[in-house]
Amino acid sequence: MTSTLPTRPGEDFAARLSARAGRMSASAIRELLKLTQRPEIISFAGGLPAPELFPLDAIRAAANAVLDRHGPAAVQYGTTEGHLPLREWIAAQTPGLTPGHVQIVTGSQQGLDLLGKILIDEGDVVLVEAPTYLGALQSFQPYGPRYVELPTDEHGIDVDALEDVLKTHPAKLLYAIPNFQNPTGRTLSLERRRRLVELTAQYGVMVLEDDPYGKLRFTGEALPSLFTLGLERVGGDPERNHVLYSGSFSKTLVPGLRDAWVQGPHLIIEKLVQAKQGADLHTPIFNQMIITELVGEVLPRQIEIVKRAYGERAQHMVGRLREHFPAGVQFTEPEGGMFLWVTLPQGLDTTELFPRALERGVAYVPGRPFFALGGGANTMRLSYSSATPEQIERGVRALAETFREAMG
Ligand code: PMP
Repeated sequence: MTSTLPTRPGEDFAARLSARAGRMSASAIRELLKLTQRPEIISFAGGLPAPELFPLDAIRAAANAVLDRHGPAAVQYGTTEGHLPLREWIAAQTPGLTPGHVQIVTGSQQGLDLLGKILIDEGDVVLVEAPTYLGALQSFQPYGPRYVELPTDEHGIDVDALEDVLKTHPAKLLYAIPNFQNPTGRTLSLERRRRLVELTAQYGVMVLEDDPYGKLRFTGEALPSLFTLGLERVGGDPERNHVLYSGSFSKTLVPGLRDAWVQGPHLIIEKLVQAKQGADLHTPIFNQMIITELVGEVLPRQIEIVKRAYGERAQHMVGRLREHFPAGVQFTEPEGGMFLWVTLPQGLDTTELFPRALERGVAYVPGRPFFALGGGANTMRLSYSSATPEQIERGVRALAETFREAMG
C-alpha cells in the first residue's frame, strides 16, 4: 500500500477521510451568512432568538442558587441520561411518561445526530418535508440516508402524497416539524396530524417530531403533538408509541445553555444513552441545574414575553410584505415561531438575487438548501424574530425593490 500522507506543500489529507466524512459538506448558508454580518445590513437571514428578551437576571440568580445548593456537584461529571429533576419535570408534561422516557441532549441538534446514529443505516429511506430544516439534513447525512421528499402546502405535509409514498417506499423514518416549521413557518393541520400518525403506524414507519417552536404560538389554537396522538393510538403506552419527540429550551429560554431533550420508548432512550456516552458523556450538569431552576416560574413568563414580541414582529412583517411586495410574490403567515417563507415567480433564483439584495442592504436565506433533493430556487426564508419595526420597514422595501427589478 502506498502512503497517502502528504509529503509536499499543497498536498492534504483528503484521501484519509472516511466515506462518512465524504458525505458531509460545508453549509452553503454559512458562507452567505458571513456576508450579512456587516452592521449596515438588515438581516432577516439569521435564525437567532431575540437576545434582548433573554432572562439574564433570572439566569444569574439561578446560577447562584445552583452553586449554593449543589456545591461541587453542580460542576462534577453527571449522568448521561441527564439531571433527574429536569427529566422528571419534562416527563410530567405528558401523562404516562416517566424520566426513563426522557434523554437530555446538548441542544436538539445533538438529538438529531444521535437519533440518526441509532436509527439510520446506509440506504434507509428517510421521509422529509420539502422544504425541511437544513440542520436535520446535515445531521442525518453522514449516516447515508436515502431521502424521499414529501410535498407540502399551506397546511404542511400533503398526507395524500404521503400515502402514495408509503405504498411504494419501505421507509424507516419520517422527520417532521409540525409547528411553525423551519423554514416555512407553516403548521400541520389537526386533521393531517391524525392522518399522518395513522398512516405511518399502518406502514410501520417511525416518526421523529421536532418541536422547538411549539410553545411559541402567538395566534390560533394549540394543536396536539404527533407524539400525543401517537400515544393515544396505543392506549397511552409509551413503549408502543411510534412517534419520538424532540423538544428544546433554545427558543423558549436561551439557546446557549444547549439544553434539549428527546422523549420516546425505553429501548430508544437506552440506545440514545449509549450513543451519547460516546459523544459527550453528558450535557453540562450546571446548565441542566440552571434550567431546572427556571422551568417553574421563569419559563412560563418567558414564553409569554417571547410570544408577544414575535407575534408583533410577525404581524408587522406580514403587514409590510402585503404593502410592498409586487403581485406574484407569495408568502406564508405564521401562527408562531420565528420564520416565514417567500416564493417568487418561477424562473427567479434567490441565490442569484442575493448579492443584489445585499447591495440594497438586506439579507435573507435562499431556500434551495432546505430541499433534500434540490429545487426551490425561487424561494427564501425570512426571520422576524430579532428585527425592529424600523428594520422590518426598510428591509422589506429593499427586498421589494430587488424583486421588482428582477421581475422587470
Ligand atoms: N430543529 C429545528 C427545527 C430548529 O430550527 C433548530 C434550531 N434552529 C434545531 C432543531 C436545533 O436547536 P437546538 O439545538 O438549539 O435545540
